[in-house]
Amino acid sequence: MAKEDYSPLEAEESSPKVKSAVRIGKDSKLFKIIRNVGILIVFALAGLTAGVLIGYLAFSGAKTPSCSEPQVAPNNIPKEWGALVSENGKLVPAGDQGVLQMDATRIENNLKMLTVEPHIAGSKTNNDLAKTIAASWRELKLDKVEEIQYSVLLQYPNDTNPNRFQIRLTNHSVVFDAPTAQLEPPVTDDEKKEGVARPFNAYSGVGSAEGPLVYVNYARREDFQNLTDMGVNVSQCICLARYGQIFRGSKALVAQQNGCLGLVIYSDPIDYGPKKGFPAYPNGWSLPETGLQRGTVMLMDGDPLTPLHPSIPDVYRRSLDEALADHSVPSIPVTPLSSSDAIHFLSIMSTGKEAPEDWRGGLNLTYYLGPGFNSENQNSSAYMEVNNYYETKPIVNVVGTIYGSQEPDHPVLLGNHRDAWTFGGADPNSGTATMLEVVRSLSLLRETGWRPGRTMMFCSWDAEEYGLVGSVEFVEDRSKQLLLNAVAYLNVDVAVGGIDHLRVKASPMLIPAFYQATKEVTSPNDPSLTVYEEWQLETGAPGEPDVGGLGSGSDYTGFFQVLGITSGDLSYTSTFNATDFFAGYPVYHSIHDTFQWIKTSLEPHFAHHLALGKVWLRTALNISTTPVLPFGVVEYGEHLLMLVQDLNSTHNQTLGRENITLDFLFTSVESFQASAKMLQDAVDYVKEKDLNMTENLKKWRVLNSKLVGVERSFLVPEGLPGRPFFKHVVYAPGKYNSYSSAAFPGITDSIVEENWRVVREQVTVAALNVRAAANVMTDSLQTAIYDNYSS
Ligand SMILES: [Zn+2]
Repeated sequence: MAKEDYSPLEAEESSPKVKSAVRIGKDSKLFKIIRNVGILIVFALAGLTAGVLIGYLAFSGAKTPSCSEPQVAPNNIPKEWGALVSENGKLVPAGDQGVLQMDATRIENNLKMLTVEPHIAGSKTNNDLAKTIAASWRELKLDKVEEIQYSVLLQYPNDTNPNRFQIRLTNHSVVFDAPTAQLEPPVTDDEKKEGVARPFNAYSGVGSAEGPLVYVNYARREDFQNLTDMGVNVSQCICLARYGQIFRGSKALVAQQNGCLGLVIYSDPIDYGPKKGFPAYPNGWSLPETGLQRGTVMLMDGDPLTPLHPSIPDVYRRSLDEALADHSVPSIPVTPLSSSDAIHFLSIMSTGKEAPEDWRGGLNLTYYLGPGFNSENQNSSAYMEVNNYYETKPIVNVVGTIYGSQEPDHPVLLGNHRDAWTFGGADPNSGTATMLEVVRSLSLLRETGWRPGRTMMFCSWDAEEYGLVGSVEFVEDRSKQLLLNAVAYLNVDVAVGGIDHLRVKASPMLIPAFYQATKEVTSPNDPSLTVYEEWQLETGAPGEPDVGGLGSGSDYTGFFQVLGITSGDLSYTSTFNATDFFAGYPVYHSIHDTFQWIKTSLEPHFAHHLALGKVWLRTALNISTTPVLPFGVVEYGEHLLMLVQDLNSTHNQTLGRENITLDFLFTSVESFQASAKMLQDAVDYVKEKDLNMTENLKKWRVLNSKLVGVERSFLVPEGLPGRPFFKHVVYAPGKYNSYSSAAFPGITDSIVEENWRVVREQVTVAALNVRAAANVMTDSLQTAIYDNYSS
């Protein structure tokens, strides 16, 4: 990295600093909406929206605080809510005290412990880590520690018969046998370990393929369209694609749909390095030219054999053939490759057309499209072999709980996955190391007798890398209680993949909680700024740091897009080229994603881990210790308006041509904004009014049921068109790139597909759900809050 060394953050946490930051940028493009289109995920979760609001409405567990207790936090929050904690006879904010306990060296030691051995999902090493985490949480005396096991179908590379990618003559003699198709070589001693998964793409089709080679750029829909336009036929060919821009599973699906026999995906130096100024690891942070990216190509989330159901012993399993038939997993073989091997194939492809300028990568050669090799090699073809095998394996989620004193049945969940393709330095164990320190700090508060008002749950997910398997099975296992009661889900996958800026993706509902938390943590890059101020400088317009929409690619998906639980996702990232967008950092999913890579190439002092942990802890406490949830309904309304305006301006002409109007959606958003304002006024009224505790409890309960109900109101039981798993009408993963976020996906997907009947229907569905959310906010509000029985 071209960044200086950072000194560790001082242990003293500054109190909230509000400074006027230098402001940059013009009008903010608050949501980076990437209008890509989607994956076919062909299964449905049974209608879950009914009775969604029952949870809070029926809830009556809040204890009336003792009237003799005089200690109150700001805004008349009784001490029982846990916003304050006793320290040397004084009451101090629990967030301040919590972050004081946090220590960068402990996070570093956690990371070292977690990443000594490779720990792919289903392996003994990964299950041993589950036991270690569970044991440490028991030692910290969490109220409950569960090791929740599911039995799921995973796929592994074959050690005795590795995958291959070759140049072969017609008589089958091998001209070139790509070494990195079989093995990714270590470059440092710590990488020389038994159990490193050989190069593979999980849930690939198994078998061999032989044919002319064709270069398909990033293997996006538009790339294949361009090839067709240029007169290149990829059918019956082996496709060579570069990693980047979209989810690799989407590449596999599109390649298969276009008739490719097999797909090889390599890491081009223009996207992953090494290149000028960014030397290869161990001299710098870039991917060595022999490095490559593993990763899943499954197109559904969760165990492919148990869609909609948890993978517990008695549950029905469908056959793998059914999963293949509905494109949950690709049928063609797919495997990764390094650039040092890709160069051998690309350099002899000088037949056919030269690749368009923006298709050319960073290798020192002329990129040709093919199909086939040049005249000197016209008797050769490409041959690939994928020998991965399927195995049903136990996976383990570890879930630790600190029960809330006031609303024990309303959890705020914090989650991070544990399994890694190799060592998991950044992905995911930078997050795990940080979560362990968050839990330890809170357990120190617990020792003083402190409890949060709401329950906090800490989740170490398994088999995320395979397709969010552990978290989705958990969500399917506990869907009813989560749907009824869960308050929020806060995810961290890669805590630190870069050190340039904090990246927050979240439901707009969480904006106030994240803004508040980041205003109370010092930037690890510049001690004169808070994280909020730095965030504001780098990504936002005046006053409004940029919060991105949630797509998919990590464990919030089951919570947010399936159950409508307000969710957020945090990471420190870099601004390095395109990798910033889809993967975060160059050695992602390679053998080089290690403790040593982080320590020597990224951040020696773990200051960014620490800062992220503090933001995570403070955000979680903001939500779990505040009687009235700090949810941003007004912010949600503003975002809805921006999303609809954006939709309108992007597709204005097309919609006009088809006589389709978004008027109903616009008026629904207007009524959402009006209702949000009324609800916010009611929240402010209750907070300001010095009501007696009984009155407060009654009103808090009503406000919270509404605040939680808004996100749930966006769920459509039947799911999105062609994608019944995804039920959130406002946000979904992009249909042809699940990493990105699509706004009003039912509408945008069907516009791209030019299915105008569905567009009309989906405008109605979106508008009705936005209107429903508006009604949830105002229904009986006057009576409940202002005691106005005649309204
Ligand atoms: Zn991850």
